[in-house]
Amino acid sequence: NLERIQADQGATHRESVHVALGGRSYDILIGAGLLEEAGDHISTVAPGAACAIVTDENVARLHLPTLEKSLSKAGVRHKTIIVKPGEGSKSLATFGRVCDEVLAAKIERRDLIVAFGGGVVGDLAGFVAASVRRGSRFVQIPTTLLSQVDSSVGGKTGINSVHGKNLIGAFHQPALVLADVDVLRTLPLREFRAGYAEVVKYGLIGDKRFFEWLEADAEAVFHSRAEQICAVAVSCETKAAIVGRDETEQGDRALLNLGHTFGHAFELLAGYDSERLVHGEGVAIGMACAARFSARLGLCAPQDAERVARHLASVGLPTEIRQIPGWRDDAQAVLAAMYQDKKVEGGALTFILMRGVGEAFIAKSVEPAEALGFLKDELA
Ligand code: NAD
Ligand code: MG
Repeated sequence: NLERIQADQGATHRESVHVALGGRSYDILIGAGLLEEAGDHISTVAPGAACAIVTDENVARLHLPTLEKSLSKAGVRHKTIIVKPGEGSKSLATFGRVCDEVLAAKIERRDLIVAFGGGVVGDLAGFVAASVRRGSRFVQIPTTLLSQVDSSVGGKTGINSVHGKNLIGAFHQPALVLADVDVLRTLPLREFRAGYAEVVKYGLIGDKRFFEWLEADAEAVFHSRAEQICAVAVSCETKAAIVGRDETEQGDRALLNLGHTFGHAFELLAGYDSERLVHGEGVAIGMACAARFSARLGLCAPQDAERVARHLASVGLPTEIRQIPGWRDDAQAVLAAMYQDKKVEGGALTFILMRGVGEAFIAKSVEPAEALGFLKDELA
């Protein structure tokens, strides 16, 4: 797959990744300039449908005119619903307002809801689509690197509860995903880096050659469209394959949580304060921790753990817990926070560990005492 993509580097090409889920299958189109063509793609998957675009203020300011123009040109009736940027919009209040506005716009079941933004908009609008009229069709137009490689693919939608993140939601697959790397040019560097952590994750899970390509070409992934298209396509292909095997996370899909058992705990302890820590940064530290923890348990070579951290650090991502600004918590607090994750089953923590780069596996029988000892040393 990497070879195929590398072969046509240089030219700005298009990639498409198929997510095979029987009657719920769909395509992810990846390229530059797709936003200008969105109207055509949308009227191909849903001839005659009207659209309710859900977006946030930042994306609306930067990119909404391009999307609206494309829809108008293709003769697609559309109405736009704008929410505030940030995690706060994944709330019951915003969910209720967006549902009502979709209904007020006379969007019917065969019409489309278009999630146009990062993961916040995608999760919110996807859950609105899952709920309005007991399920409406929707299209993802992800505008952050994180949403292009991760949240727009796989059908997890939802909002936050006062009891925790993503606790209210549904599995609801989109009808189409359009990932236009051109929109990434307006993304703040910190957000791009955070998405890059999830790209690295796919290499670490099961694709050593992809990780090696990233080690060699990270600079280009940050700056050039051809390499961005390649990185997004390989990431989506990996995620699509895993989701195709295990749509609702009964098994293998848990591999995608590499770095997340630790990372979610760091986010929780940082108070979900994006000034201190954004999700991808938590995942970067979490992956470095998972690698070091694997080495400590004798599962992988210490050099592999160093290699993981070295690559993440080379693009400016944090790899140590103490890099989180204002960090004051101890090992016991981190362990307790890990137990609050919804992936805890019958009191046992599930870790995604590594036998080496590209060889992640699900470990269900890690002793809490082992994890505590590891965290104490990390924080010493
Ligand atoms: P986000 O949606 O909050 O976007 C980050 C910031 O970038 C926002 O301020 C946004 O307005 C801005 N932005 C978006 N696109 C832009 C662009 N092209 N140019 C300039 N600014 C732009 O954050 P995110 O990182 O994309 O998504 C995080 C969310 O995704 C979390 O809520 C997380 O729970 C969710 N998520 C879901 C899944 C899933 O499978 N459903 C997977 C991973 C993450
Ligand atoms: Mg993630």
